[in-house]
Parts: sequence; structure tokens; C-alpha cells
Amino acid sequence: MSRFRMYPTGEQAGVMLGHCAHARYVWNLAVEQHAHWKWGRRSAPGFAEQCRQLTEARRDNDWLRAGNADVQQQALQDFARAKNARFASGFGEPTWRRKHVHEGFRVIGTDRVPESHPDGSPKLNAQGRQVMGRSVVVQRLNRRWARVKVPGCGWVRFRLTRTGLPAAKTFRVTFRNQQWHIAFVVIPDPIDAPGTDGIVGIDRGVTITAALSDGQRLNCPRLTTRERARVRKHQRRAARAPRGSEAKAAEHAKVAMIKAREADRRKDWCEKTSTMLARTYRLIRFEKLNITTMTRSAKGTIEQPGTRVRQKAGLNRAILAQGWGLLRRRTGEKAPGRVEDVPAPYTSLRCSACGWIEKDSRKSQAEFVCVSCGFTCNADENAAVNVAAGQGGIPRPRRAAGAGGVTAATGRSSAREPRPIRVGIPLFQEGEDVKSTASRP
Ligand SMILES: [Zn+2]
Repeated sequence: MSRFRMYPTGEQAGVMLGHCAHARYVWNLAVEQHAHWKWGRRSAPGFAEQCRQLTEARRDNDWLRAGNADVQQQALQDFARAKNARFASGFGEPTWRRKHVHEGFRVIGTDRVPESHPDGSPKLNAQGRQVMGRSVVVQRLNRRWARVKVPGCGWVRFRLTRTGLPAAKTFRVTFRNQQWHIAFVVIPDPIDAPGTDGIVGIDRGVTITAALSDGQRLNCPRLTTRERARVRKHQRRAARAPRGSEAKAAEHAKVAMIKAREADRRKDWCEKTSTMLARTYRLIRFEKLNITTMTRSAKGTIEQPGTRVRQKAGLNRAILAQGWGLLRRRTGEKAPGRVEDVPAPYTSLRCSACGWIEKDSRKSQAEFVCVSCGFTCNADENAAVNVAAGQGGIPRPRRAAGAGGVTAATGRSSAREPRPIRVGIPLFQEGEDVKSTASRP
């Protein structure tokens, strides 16, 4: 997918917001139809039946008829796709779209182009005629700007931040955080592996977002101290403004804008880093993290309330701010077949020089000194080297390894990652390994 920032005029933005409203309305009708279905009832209407119903609805409803039929039909098409992919997409059943939150619509291109097979030969139908496919109407204005035909708006300009115009059948327009974006549905080619035989291991943490086994430390940009102060200021003002007032909404909007900037930075960093990884290394190994489990709330139930709920929430925010999942996903998409997940346990406790696993080797967040062979290293880098070697899930220390000689059988406790003795939800502190506190069951 290639996504660009769009700059509609005020008039065009008004028309496009109308498209958003129509698409949302049609989508939500489809959700309602399917939510009504139960075992034993006749199946909910499919795409073709819904299109017929849409035509009828347009005949009866002036507001709907004023909108663009293609935009409305594409919303049904989107719904059908989402419904079909509900087990595989990770998003589950299609759900309600909300005003101001899920603003967007899809446009199918109006240009007709001859279709061809992957090998370049023209696609012919049963009568031997050329099959024509849809294509979006895009024009390049100059090196930095291009424009696209949007129904009802004419030409809308967008900033061209990639080389070459996108060749797509459809595009999607979204409006989020007061910004319009256009995304063309293009599947880019995977990035070729370098000729070298480089294997890299990546240890993801909160202090260092991604420590690489070759010593690089990559950090995901976050908000600056001043920006964080501004967020707090606007949150405070919003809290003090009268309920339902314009001032309250304006303050909330300012907070949302700064937070959107943080999310943009994180996404940008993930994209650049994953491209760099895919270009530089033949095989990329991540430690396997279950981020959903790690960032589970500590709230508990009413009968059994959790402890240290706020602290765990803070840790969860810190984890999610690192974009671990996005980095892994995008790297996998850019380098298919070249990314592996290594089981995470003990990667931070195992000595990458001799293989000894001991809790005491991890002196602090940053320091690793092997109690067996005396190997000294940065703790995150040590973990990354273990990940690169595919080593981690060794259930108990190798007794014969290292210069430490024969030690008494270490129980499970010594091979586990350091963790607070307290029972309950652990508190995240500076200088403490985050994985150890978060991976508690
Ligand atoms: Zn060692």
C-alpha cells in the first residue's frame, strides 16, 4: 500500500466528508443486518443482495441518493471483504464505524485499462476479446505534487512522496486527526536479500527499543519532554473546562494532535528500521513476544481487584509506545521467509559466550557479567546475540559448561529471570528488565 497526504480545498473536503458519512451509514446498515442473524434464521444478505437493497434504499432516501453510488457500493464491498476475512485478518467480525473516528471511503478507479497475465500476455475472455480492468485516474503535476480524480470533487491534489505514480485499481481516502490521506492498494515487491550471509538477532526492550546482535542500538522516537508537558497542560485545561463546552473539545483535540504526532513518528521509525533490516541482513531473528499477554491490564475483577494497577498501566503504555509488534510485522512483510521468531525465555539470562544461564549474571538493566566465565557485555546486546544464535528456550542451565565447574543443581528459581519477590503485579522501575516483570503469567 502506498499512502500520501492529501490536500483538498475546503469545498472538496466538504464533499469528501459527505462521502465518509454515506460510506459509514451503509457499512453500519450491513453490520446491523448481520448482527441480527442467529442460528436457524435465513442467512444474512450477501454482497449482491445488499447492492439490490442499496438501489432500493437510494430510491426512497433523498440524502442517500444525493451521495455517490460507487462510494456506497464500495462500502458494501469493503464489508463483504472484511466479513470473509474475519477469521484470518486479525480484526474479527466487522464492527460499527463511528463518526469522527472511522472516517473514510473507498473509490474504485474509473479508467479502463487492458488487463494482462503475470507473464505479460494479454488477458482474453471466452470470446477472445481483451479483458478491461479498472484503474485510478492519477496525474503527475510536478516532482512533488500529483492529483487524483475523486467522485464529486474533480481533481484533488496529494503530495507525491515516492518515486513513480501508483498503479492501482482502487484507493481509500481517510480523514484522521484533521488530516486527509489517500492510500492506493498496491502490494509492493518484497525486498531482496543482500548477497551476504548476515544473521541478526533483535532484542526488544523498553530502555532500548531494539538492540541488535551486531551492537547497534535503535531507539523509537517518543514525545520530547516539552511535548509531554504540553499534553499534560491541555489535559489539565480540558479537565477544568465546563462539561460539553467548546473549550473542552478544543483542548481534547490538541491532546489528540500531539499524540497523533507520536504515533506518526513511531510508524515512520518502524518503516525505516524494517526496511533497513530487510536490506542489510539475510536472516532476521526476533525473540518471540506475546504482546497482548504482556500488556494485559492488572485491573482484576470486582471480587479480586488487582494490585498496582496504575503502575502496570504505565508499563503497558511504555511497551505499546515502542511499536514492537509493528516492527516485527512490517519486517516480516518486507522480507517474507527471512524472519524467524526465537522463543524468548532465558535470552536475557544466558551468557552468549558460554551458554550458562544464571539469574545473577544479569547485574542490572544494562550490565551483564557471566558468573561462570566472566564474560562482560551490555545486557541487551547479550540477549540479542542469543536471539541471533536461535538460543533461548533451554530449560535448565548446562551444568558442564563454563569454567564455573560443577555447581549444585540449580532449581528452577535460579534460571528464571529476575523478578520482585512480592506476589501480585510487578512494579516497573527504572533499571529493571521489563521483560522479566511483564512475562509473568
Ligand atoms: Zn559465560
